[in-house]
Amino acid sequence: MAKKLAKYNQKRNFKKTKEPLGIKKKSTKKLHFVVQHHLARKDHFDLRLEYHGVLKSWAIPKGPSYNPKDKRLAIKVEDHPISYRNFEGTIPKGEYGSGTVMLFDEGYWEPINQKISFNKPIKFLLHGKRLKGHWTLIPFKEENWLLIKEQDEEPFQDIKKFTTSIRSGKTMEELAGQITLTNPQKIIDRKNKITKEDIFSYYEKIAERMLPYIKNRLMSTIRSPQGIEKNKFYKKHFENINNYLGKMRITNDKEKKEDYYYIKDKQGLLSEVQMNSYEFHIWGSTVPKINKPNLMIFDLDPDEKLSLEKVREGAKDLKSILDELKLPSFLKTSGGKGYHVVVPIPMKNWTSFQEFAHNIANLMAKKWPEKYTSKISKKERKNKIFIDWIRNTKKATSVAPYSVRLRKSIPVSMPIKWSELDKIKPNEITMKKALERLKRKDPWQDLLDYF
Ligand code: ATP
Ligand code: MN
Repeated sequence: MAKKLAKYNQKRNFKKTKEPLGIKKKSTKKLHFVVQHHLARKDHFDLRLEYHGVLKSWAIPKGPSYNPKDKRLAIKVEDHPISYRNFEGTIPKGEYGSGTVMLFDEGYWEPINQKISFNKPIKFLLHGKRLKGHWTLIPFKEENWLLIKEQDEEPFQDIKKFTTSIRSGKTMEELAGQITLTNPQKIIDRKNKITKEDIFSYYEKIAERMLPYIKNRLMSTIRSPQGIEKNKFYKKHFENINNYLGKMRITNDKEKKEDYYYIKDKQGLLSEVQMNSYEFHIWGSTVPKINKPNLMIFDLDPDEKLSLEKVREGAKDLKSILDELKLPSFLKTSGGKGYHVVVPIPMKNWTSFQEFAHNIANLMAKKWPEKYTSKISKKERKNKIFIDWIRNTKKATSVAPYSVRLRKSIPVSMPIKWSELDKIKPNEITMKKALERLKRKDPWQDLLDYF
């Protein structure tokens, strides 16, 4: 590693930050410059001038000014690699310089001095889009320099009016919202060569379709920090490390208080994925009306020996009962062994909600006693399907539509049309297939109209 960039490399953990590794490059003929707006612990601008294969760098708390009367403090900091001129985005919490970086301006610079030394004043020209004309950097005490605009013909510009990235057009807020992915190459499913980045990118693309069904629902997630062959963890309590999640305090039966969490937007979804939470399991109600459930779910759990045909028949039988009751029903694969039937039915409290679901399951068991049971015990399930209505109790969860499952080939719990029941196996829809299906009409499109 180049000695010049040793300080830069020492300060950063490249497993965690997306900033480029410090490698010295040959300087190009024209010398690049970049100014980055960096909202770190302190808001400031970084001026970087390419020189001898690195970017010479200064942190300018107030930013550059077009007014020749302004003498802007510019603190000389460690050299940065040339590729840093392309960096914009976020530096994760706890890392050096953590915060948001936006490309404020870029272009070329031209020294006017014959010889440059970094302890003497440097006069130079900037050929940027926002910063142009003659400038001077003057050292005055140790690392402290002054940046001053020279009088010239360039028209005065108020730099405060530039609030977007010169390259992406994004604002600081938009950039801050992009999450950041660390360890993108981490293997989640070795056999099928599926990485953390694959899952992150799936959620990035599916977010818009998925969010209406999951946002504001308290949830548990399943974390898989080392891939599906290793331990998985259920996470159901709010943790202070994720700024993007909502928090809700729930008092349980024993007057004990527990903090649960929910996702409000895409940022929240992706920040969970970044923290290795890949499976999302949601409640039947939404914040803030947490005691008024509205999304009923029936999970068809077959005895192990039962054929897929029987499970499909079970979904159809259940639908026939719901149809008779004039209740709308929607179908999804579980991404595992069965199907889930979902009924949008807002109710006044959990007790009635749960009782209603229980009654439906009992009805099925009564009508077709040889095929279905509403009792949870494995013994009762022999050669039958358990119509799991218990998912409809307060604090119970079921896997969210469009969530991936941490199982072989990372299948998705996929909303499908009733007419597709016989054609699609419960674990058949992979992330790739799910994304292809985005082109079609949302099979659950009407569901939200019932709320
Ligand atoms: P499959 O089709 O393979 O049965 P599934 O998602 O229906 O997949 P189940 O084991 O039947 O899986 O569980 C139903 C739901 O109950 C899950 O989607 C999950 O939300 C919830 N659940 C299951 N096990 C747990 C657990 N240990 N802790 C919390 N919630 C769980
Ligand atoms: Mn199930």
